[in-house]
Amino acid sequence: MAKTPRLLPENPRLFRARVVRGERATPSMHRVTITGDDLHEFRYLGFDHWFRLFVQRPDQAVFRMPELDGKRWWPTFLAIPEDVRPHCANYTVADFRVLADGTAELDVDFVVHTDAQGEPDGRAAVWALAARPGDELAILDQGCIFDCPADTSEVVIAAEETGLPGVVGIAASLPRDTVGRIIQEVPTAADVRELDAPPGVSVTWIVREQADPRAVPGRTALAELQRHVPADDRGYAFVVGESTLATEGRRHLHRAGLPKSRITFSGFWKHEARESVPA
Ligand SMILES: Cc1cc2nc3c(=O)[nH]c(=O)nc-3n(C[C@H](O)[C@H](O)[C@H](O)COP(=O)(O)OP(=O)(O)OC[C@H]3O[C@@H](n4cnc5c(N)ncnc54)[C@H](O)[C@@H]3O)c2cc1C
Repeated sequence: MAKTPRLLPENPRLFRARVVRGERATPSMHRVTITGDDLHEFRYLGFDHWFRLFVQRPDQAVFRMPELDGKRWWPTFLAIPEDVRPHCANYTVADFRVLADGTAELDVDFVVHTDAQGEPDGRAAVWALAARPGDELAILDQGCIFDCPADTSEVVIAAEETGLPGVVGIAASLPRDTVGRIIQEVPTAADVRELDAPPGVSVTWIVREQADPRAVPGRTALAELQRHVPADDRGYAFVVGESTLATEGRRHLHRAGLPKSRITFSGFWKHEARESVPA
């Protein structure tokens, strides 16, 4: 992941949780709803609030999650014996609510992607597709990445589908007088969702060409972003998703006049070129 200004909590906290339900939200997104005995204490910040997700690996008989917290959680995590260490991946709060009975629910939207054989790929997404009510997991609160300066003239956001849960949260959390634009790429037309964006923020949905299964997520959003000319040098940009979208998007915006300090970019994952299958 690229370096970004992080709004990390002072003392990131671990929440133990269990699955309530799972359902296909859109063709490319599987939603898993979780709850936990102390999840009502999770302080949801809106925007792109994200967390480290810990789940059981397929080769493990049980989920074992040792205590972890604080900014130096990583060495502690790595010290867990390999055979019992859970799988860890980064995800965004798609929604969070406290119910009438005081229990809390948190939604996680997993992008469903496939390997060269067309089978679901990605250890977290495969876990999500198989998740059943009661399955155990844990999340480590990481705060937000979106970090818009107070004097911003326009906000420019570009993402592919892994950034969509964050974009949904950012759109709804932005002050209502915000001016700018959102460029959001999704795999299919049925993945397009209603965004609660301020009236001054235009939303450009880009549906990826599925006719070519080798189409790399984020490339069409990048092409659209590269046509964008910042209004002045007081804008703020947030570019996340596949690594090339993040790095090339930042390069374009900087060359077009936006200071690097006003661009948050993060490569959420890296596309690995696949061998073409001979006909
Ligand atoms: C701050 C942050 C927030 C994120 N929020 C979300 C979120 O809310 N929802 C979400 O779905 N993702 C989100 N991501 C991206 C997610 O962390 C990555 O997609 C990650 O690779 C998934 O973990 P995994 O263990 O399933 O992947 P791995 O098992 O490590 O990956 C397996 C293979 O899948 C490929 N791959 C990974 N993601 C994709 C993809 N989207 N499309 C095609 N191929 C892919 C990898 O290149 C790799 O070859 C977020 C990332 C960050 C940094």
